[in-house]
Amino acid sequence: MKARGIDVLSFAVGEPDFNTPEPIIEAAKKALDQGMTKYAPSRGLPLLIEAIQRKTERENGFSCQANQVVVSCGAKHCLYNAFQVLLNPGDEAILFAPFWMTYADQVALADGIPVIVPTSAENGFQPDAAAIESAITPRTKVIVCNSPSNPTGGAWDRATVEAVAAIAERHNLTIVSDEIYEHLTYDGHQHTGFAQLGPETASRTVTILGVSKTYSMTGWRIGFAISPPEIATAMANIQDQVTSNATTFAQAGAAAALDSDPALVQKMAATFAERRAFGMQQLRKIDGLGVPSPKGAFYFFLDVSRFLGGEIADDCALAEHLLDKAHIATVPGSVFHAPGHIRFSYAAGLDTIAEGARRLGDALKGLQ
Ligand code: PLP
Repeated sequence: MKARGIDVLSFAVGEPDFNTPEPIIEAAKKALDQGMTKYAPSRGLPLLIEAIQRKTERENGFSCQANQVVVSCGAKHCLYNAFQVLLNPGDEAILFAPFWMTYADQVALADGIPVIVPTSAENGFQPDAAAIESAITPRTKVIVCNSPSNPTGGAWDRATVEAVAAIAERHNLTIVSDEIYEHLTYDGHQHTGFAQLGPETASRTVTILGVSKTYSMTGWRIGFAISPPEIATAMANIQDQVTSNATTFAQAGAAAALDSDPALVQKMAATFAERRAFGMQQLRKIDGLGVPSPKGAFYFFLDVSRFLGGEIADDCALAEHLLDKAHIATVPGSVFHAPGHIRFSYAAGLDTIAEGARRLGDALKGLQ
């Protein structure tokens, strides 16, 4: 539609809209100039692994050895490696709905079975211990956690993280904890990662981190997993036969990002906080729209159920309708296992958010 000259506003993307900060770009250019253009160890360049070790110590409250780290082509690739290693055919992985659709597809690619535990907006999209317990079977191997969450923006309290860790210990499960949005939290929320809870939890946790969201480096394709050494080795062995190392000069950029002035991240996070507050204010003017307060990431997960069932049957039809009629792109909740919702990203400027909210309000008028 854009190619046809239509003024479409996209709230569908899952990436920050800022340029990658200059010092990071400079570091990658320097790496190219210095000839860092050859094959490298599959697990990652020592300079990046060392920067990751400093990062977890400084920011995540746990230390790790070099043999626990595997650098891959984005957090998505880390997750893929993890599921391939952890799941045999028929093994079950618990997912908390709404979830990022990649988890279910990657579990299926490993011949595993996604077992879905619902969460609700009323509870900040945090899981309930009893619901987890009742989903566990002898085939359960993995619990997939994602706080702060895409698509809901929900972020778990420390008590929830501890409760899930206790369940994992009781049933001898591995926790795959995707903490890619760790630095984007609001209203004073403090991110708690699993590995920081202590050695027992760390010994059963694969922590997935990366530079895509924190440093606006989505196209660089660098993510990293920190796991117990035997899991890390198996992940590295798989990766060795699939991609070998992640791009060397992108790794140099990622190392510079991790060692960069924290003010870079703080500035981007403050911009997101401003957009979130402004966006909530605009969207809450729309009658009948459910707008929870996201505690993290950069998404509003809007409850549109009041507008469905008549002229517009479901959330997929609504997303089509919004694109066709209002020229705004959103993502239907069904792809996140949450029909009746749409995901609206606020990785956009304030003017765009204001215009998007106005168009959404106009389009929803009359559908109730
Ligand atoms: N995890 C979550 C929850 C995401 O939303 C995304 C991207 O949308 C990723 C992982 C992928 O990150 P990367 O760009 O590092 O592969």
